Amino acid sequence: MIVWSSPLDVSTYAGSGRDVGPPAVRCPACGGPTGRWSGYRRHLRADVLLVVFVPRVRCRDCGRTDALLPWFVVPYRYDSVDVIGAALDLSVTGLGVRRIAAALGRPETTVREWCRRFGRVAADLTRVVLAEAVERGWSGFDLPTASRPRAAAAVAALASAWSRRRGPVSAWRVAALVTGGTLLAPNTGSPLAGMAVSRQMAGTPRSQPGGDPWPPATPLKPSPSGDTT
Ligand SMILES: [Zn+2]
Repeated sequence: MIVWSSPLDVSTYAGSGRDVGPPAVRCPACGGPTGRWSGYRRHLRADVLLVVFVPRVRCRDCGRTDALLPWFVVPYRYDSVDVIGAALDLSVTGLGVRRIAAALGRPETTVREWCRRFGRVAADLTRVVLAEAVERGWSGFDLPTASRPRAAAAVAALASAWSRRRGPVSAWRVAALVTGGTLLAPNTGSPLAGMAVSRQMAGTPRSQPGGDPWPPATPLKPSPSGDTT
């Protein structure tokens, strides 16, 4: 699975069918060139329920295939990263699950699961995201000390570093991008725990033909793209 920063908004992306303009990417395993390799459709609940196309690529050297997940899609989750991130931002303000669920029009059980997941990955998320923010010129300090507010502040810091160079962005999309989509996926444990920052940096090509300074990061272990087909 490779997460990429689609410039399209969610509804335009959904309306584009298969023509979603994915980037040329290198194989996360061997660095070889990849070519388009079909793809699949899945549901995505944003403001409304949409169907989006997720392209796949196949490595021409080693044969590995990867889904190219636009950064607003979370593996195994119906809801967009923007919706889930909004819930998490509300949760760190102290709002309870019931009121968050009502505010966003989502089931309480779903929101509770997002918040639990966030609690499990918060420390690792902070580490990975802050390292990336610093790398990108963020020099703030004075973050909250409590785990979850600290993680949310780190995500905001990274988004501010992004926005300076690339314009306004939904903060949680950038977090999804640099964590390779593992951030909010409903895995057990914390896949970010195994993501050493140095390895992540080393594994992330800094310059590619086309020169995108924010290439998609990939987790050390391949995660299932795990989507409803
Ligand atoms: Zn390969």
